[in-house]
Amino acid sequence: MNVPDIIIAVDGFSSTGKSTFAKMVAREFSFLYLDSGAMYRGVTLAAMEQGLIAPDGAIDEPSLREIIGTLDLHFRRDSGKTQLFLGERCIEDRIRTLEMSSHVSPVSAIPFVRNFVDDKLHAFSAGGRVIMDGRDIGTTVFPQAELKIFMTADENVRAQRRYDEMLSKGETPVFEDVLANLKERDYIDSHRETSPLSQAADAYVMDNTHMTLHEELVWILGLIQGKFGILEAPALSC
Ligand code: C5P
Repeated sequence: MNVPDIIIAVDGFSSTGKSTFAKMVAREFSFLYLDSGAMYRGVTLAAMEQGLIAPDGAIDEPSLREIIGTLDLHFRRDSGKTQLFLGERCIEDRIRTLEMSSHVSPVSAIPFVRNFVDDKLHAFSAGGRVIMDGRDIGTTVFPQAELKIFMTADENVRAQRRYDEMLSKGETPVFEDVLANLKERDYIDSHRETSPLSQAADAYVMDNTHMTLHEELVWILGLIQGKFGILEAPALSC
């Protein structure tokens, strides 16, 4: 198993801004950023494209188990941007739709899917400084992480942020659908048997309902310098 020199685990509820926060920390402190949710979304997309998820949401688990080992899901970094690829195809946009969000939690509750993703995440995390976001990073994927953050925020505020993000991408979301999807994913993620979403006992909790990105950066700056004094302070640009 590959173990990074420093790992920061960022877990929390859906749409709490984990990836925005983790990307900012990665940029400011020169960490490699890995998005574990993207991997679950990638498996879900592949399953859908291969007809393994019925319109009513039923998953053909035996067939998924057969093909999962063949899925060439990996991240590629280009000009500071990290994107998920399935083989030679960039699937970054395809995995972020509401349709994919509505199928991903049942897929990610399947134990062999979690094993597949965990193995990939460990393989991608060789050495260096890594910040990874998800639901079970500090509890299951890297329980030995040096720093664990657990993010939460009011659910209406979270839904509004997600809704605004979809609007800005030219989509036409319905606010109630976005809120319902978020609640459903939180419920499934928190109640599944394998690696449910839960706060690690040694995690620092950030409720960012009323926080700006700049305030989030100031918050983490104190923690990082306290823990790893070696890290240089960023310019606090955002
Ligand atoms: O982070 P994101 O919302 O993109 O994750 C999509 C879904 O993947 C989550 O709703 C959750 O069901 C699943 N997930 C997970 N464990 C992780 C990361 C994501 O179960 N570590």
